[in-house]
Amino acid sequence: MNIRAQVSMVFHLDKCIGCHTCSIACKNIWTDRKGTEYMWWNNVETKPGTGYPTRWEDQKKYKGGFEKKNGKLSLKLQGRTGALGNIFYNPNLPSMDDYYEPWTYDYGHLFDAPEGDDQPTARAISLVTGKVMDTIESGPNWDDDLGGSPVYAENDINLDELSEEEREQLSEVERMTFFYLPRICNHCANPGCVAACPAGALYKRGEDGIVLLSQEKCRAWRMCISGCPYKKTYFNWSTGKSEKCILCYPRIESGQPPACFHSCVGRIRYLGVLLYDADQIEKAASAEDADLVEAQRAMIQDPFDPAVIAAAKANGIPDNMITSAQKSPVYKFVKEWKIALPLHAEFRTLPMLFYVPPMMPVLAKSKDGIYEVDQSGSDGLAPLLSALDKARVPIKFMARLFSAGNTAIIEEVYRKLITVRIHRRSAEVKDVSQAELEKAYVSGKTNPEEADAIFRLTALPTYEERFVVPDMSRELAVEATVLPLANKQETGFGFRKKPERRF
Ligand code: SF4
Ligand code: SF4
Repeated sequence: MNIRAQVSMVFHLDKCIGCHTCSIACKNIWTDRKGTEYMWWNNVETKPGTGYPTRWEDQKKYKGGFEKKNGKLSLKLQGRTGALGNIFYNPNLPSMDDYYEPWTYDYGHLFDAPEGDDQPTARAISLVTGKVMDTIESGPNWDDDLGGSPVYAENDINLDELSEEEREQLSEVERMTFFYLPRICNHCANPGCVAACPAGALYKRGEDGIVLLSQEKCRAWRMCISGCPYKKTYFNWSTGKSEKCILCYPRIESGQPPACFHSCVGRIRYLGVLLYDADQIEKAASAEDADLVEAQRAMIQDPFDPAVIAAAKANGIPDNMITSAQKSPVYKFVKEWKIALPLHAEFRTLPMLFYVPPMMPVLAKSKDGIYEVDQSGSDGLAPLLSALDKARVPIKFMARLFSAGNTAIIEEVYRKLITVRIHRRSAEVKDVSQAELEKAYVSGKTNPEEADAIFRLTALPTYEERFVVPDMSRELAVEATVLPLANKQETGFGFRKKPERRF
């Protein structure tokens, strides 16, 4: 066993209200600089939708992530050496049209305009050319709340496997629904960005698994941008270096959660340490599509298991990391309760950000109760199961997003989530019979204690329960304070040089 510690994340999608506060918190701290105008290290997309950059999930176009070739795992793009042949021309990059042309407004004109017949206006000015933009044709969240859905939502790649009828139903006004998908770098256990960089500029920090990008080593080849299937590395056109989310490591090192977590209005975000077996990375990333989620779950180890603790200590993982892992909300959601899933596991980068899928689109119109969907159902709970077949967003769509197409896995998650609601309804509204309740526990593979714990951590968690940030040891804290300043570069922030252990 080769135990590593990873600061990991859960986003509970039922709680996201699509306010974009997280994106703005990040923008204000990290990408409010020249060359970063178009970057959103944290962005929030509407699903169905094409996202940012547009159709980022289309790996036929971008060739991000890994694939299995002759039983072996290899980058879809090319290996580090193969990349050398393409360093002056990389055909798999998103263009400015795929992101958007960033702009500001000529606010000064509102004050300085000469007297005239009309009110002065603030015209859009391109942040790339400095010229007036007559039309703004796209933005980082252009298809927000299904805006322009015939053009955008229609082209969501996850809809490809739906039948014509299912697609048509989705766009019927009465059935129309959507949910929000906030995205940051997943700080993957098998990062495509790291594997793709010929300069070795990207690395996974040994102590907490945060994936960083050395501004000194970056040679502007931009292979990381293609190699990341989530399009979470970006090129700074002013400095000529790539950049990415650093999970606010200076905040983490001082015991605070990242800014997007701290500022999240819906309190959808959870942060905690996972201990995982790095020897299982290759096996987990090479599993068949249907087995990917289970293989990743198997890689994550029980932080209370004495053998795991001994292996962690043998690898130099400090006690405070192990204690953090034992209190981790992420461990509960992902491994204990099995209700948080990685986004697009089929990209095979083993993302360490997990999502609790949203319930709202699953439950259709309800008259008498949350699980009333099918009027033909004779007893109360038959509709609970049929709810999944009648989901407004088809289960196949959710499976494509969160379980590499394995519908059994996502159905299991939904059964448990629905059972938690029935459990709470029985406690609050008191209109669920004991027989119905028992049936729900069996269907959701859960019990009253677990249902209570899931409800508690979902709906009523304290700040300390949501964010279990590991204490940094004193030496690391000092290093963390000094090095970023010592390495300070033109961009206004630096990256720590050490440790650069890669695995
Ligand atoms: Fe790298 Fe982050 Fe992309 Fe994973 S999500 S491949 S760690 S940039
Ligand atoms: Fe969703 Fe939280 Fe971001 Fe608001 S701040 S969009 S609730 S993730």
